[in-house]
Amino acid sequence: MSTVEQRLTTLSSTEKLRYLQSIKADFSTASILEQAKYQHELGMVFEENKQLNSALNAFSKSIDMLSAATDATRTMLVKSLLERSYVNYLINFEVESYCPDRKLAVAVSKGIIDVDVKIRALVQYAFCFKEKKMQLSEGLALLDDALALAQENQLPANTLGMIYNASGNLYRNHQLYDQANEYLSTAYEQWASVNDYQDMFNMLHGLVATSIERLELSQAQQHVDEMFQLAKQQPAFEDFIFFANYNAGLVANANKHWTKAINYFEKSLQLRKYTQEIFFIKQSYQQLILLYLRNNQTEKVRLMYTELKQFFPDYVIKDAGVLATVAYANGDYAQSRDQFLLQLDHEITERRLFLKHTMHVNTLLNRQNTNALDKKLLNQKIKIQQLQLINQQVVQERTWQLLAFSVVALILMMMLIRYLLRNRRKFKKLACTDVLTGIANRRYILEKGDLLFKQAKVKSECLAVLLFDIDNFKLVNDGQGHHVGDQVINFIVNQTQSCLTKECEFGRLGGDEFIIMAKGLSINSAKALAEEIRVKVEENAKAFFIDFSVSISIGVVSAEGFENLASAIAEADTMLYEAKGLGRNVVVCQNG
Ligand code: GH3
Ligand code: MG
Repeated sequence: MSTVEQRLTTLSSTEKLRYLQSIKADFSTASILEQAKYQHELGMVFEENKQLNSALNAFSKSIDMLSAATDATRTMLVKSLLERSYVNYLINFEVESYCPDRKLAVAVSKGIIDVDVKIRALVQYAFCFKEKKMQLSEGLALLDDALALAQENQLPANTLGMIYNASGNLYRNHQLYDQANEYLSTAYEQWASVNDYQDMFNMLHGLVATSIERLELSQAQQHVDEMFQLAKQQPAFEDFIFFANYNAGLVANANKHWTKAINYFEKSLQLRKYTQEIFFIKQSYQQLILLYLRNNQTEKVRLMYTELKQFFPDYVIKDAGVLATVAYANGDYAQSRDQFLLQLDHEITERRLFLKHTMHVNTLLNRQNTNALDKKLLNQKIKIQQLQLINQQVVQERTWQLLAFSVVALILMMMLIRYLLRNRRKFKKLACTDVLTGIANRRYILEKGDLLFKQAKVKSECLAVLLFDIDNFKLVNDGQGHHVGDQVINFIVNQTQSCLTKECEFGRLGGDEFIIMAKGLSINSAKALAEEIRVKVEENAKAFFIDFSVSISIGVVSAEGFENLASAIAEADTMLYEAKGLGRNVVVCQNG
């Protein structure tokens, strides 16, 4: 079949027909699908040759062959149904005649078929909901499905144009001209983007009608001007000039320019051979009939009616206005009056129906709008909530960060404080401690002693001061070395400590000189303690230091009778000096 299709593209309309008829026999043994395709192709060529009844016949054959649709033949069946429907539309423009095929096409296309064909079926079926006033939403639903499919499959501009056009026309037929105008304009833009002149022109045709209905007559005129321009630029589209004149007639009519309108419709009738759309030819006649009456040309009214009947003998005029006009022109005034009244009744009924329908549709659209608005509001609410949530999360995160940071900072500060405290204690201890022996140094023992002295004074308690110095220590240093001297110092400290209670404060005043302050110790007890220490040092040293002897001399005083610690120490020093004088290794006590 594809070779046949290729061959067809090279031939003229009449040659195509001849060619297809010449190869008919080749298909007698082909598969059902191939035979159906042949019939379909034949139908298309008949259509092209304006042999509409033969086209109908060919499409019907294809449809009959494919009636038991399978996945493989479904697309072809839908195509033939849509084409037969189109031919029927061309023939009589009646919904009842061309819509059953479209309904079937949509039903068949529910199976797996080419998405383009599926959309075409939906769109064309949507046109069928233009007359039944309450079915607008049904038609719109079909177009919604088509649009969803087109967007899902990223179909090109002309597919979208086709859908928008159908939406525009549907609204137009339901007398919702604002919406119609919007959709038709959008469709026009889509087609203009791909230079599809035929469809651009069709949109202008629709836009003229909607503009007239919206009383936007200058806009309608602009569209007509564009139609004339396109007709001039694209002479290949023969019927453009027919429709440009037809629409110009409509606009002139709406502007009440009767003569001008007559001229345009007369011109369109002169060009009638260029269009297949019989409906508009009939319309031109009817428009002229009415216009001639307005122009008081009754003779012409009769002439037009005769011509119309001659060309379309089967055509039954339904328009009571036209019938009233014809009757009037024929002098049949009773008939004319009846038709006129019928027309009047019709207009009144139409107006009522229009109001009722408009109210219904408006409610419907309002509800849709309200729903859309509610949806929008809900979406925005959700967005706000999401933002609030994010904000909360950020705040929470920040709080956590701040908290974590604070905890870390606190821990660090605590560690620092602990470190500083420890160091302070360490420093304090170091500041109070004698490096060599680890006992209180001069500064600390004098401070402590001062405190004890004052406490003893306040409490009238005993406080003994024992001052001692290593005997001939220089000799040790000189004879044994400084390090042995250090050992001796530490030995004496240890021996002394082993004799002291916790009531005693012990410190190194410097060099080889030490002080003990014994709280609550009478002078005698103090003397006994001093003696104990002296003996312990002397005795134990023997085991420690073999080559030389170690001893200490001690001066002992009771602090009670002194003004301050310094004078008590000074007295103890005198006692110590005395001890040295006595030959060393002795305890000298105040008052003997
Ligand atoms: P005296 O019996 O009269 O006290 O005689 P001495 O030799 O002990 O004389 P003095 O007490 O005046 O001498 C103290 C010496 O102690 C002087 C110094 O070299 C020594 N000395 C001071 N501090 C230290 C120390 O920390 N280590 C050592 N090894 N020797 C020290
Ligand atoms: Mg000494």
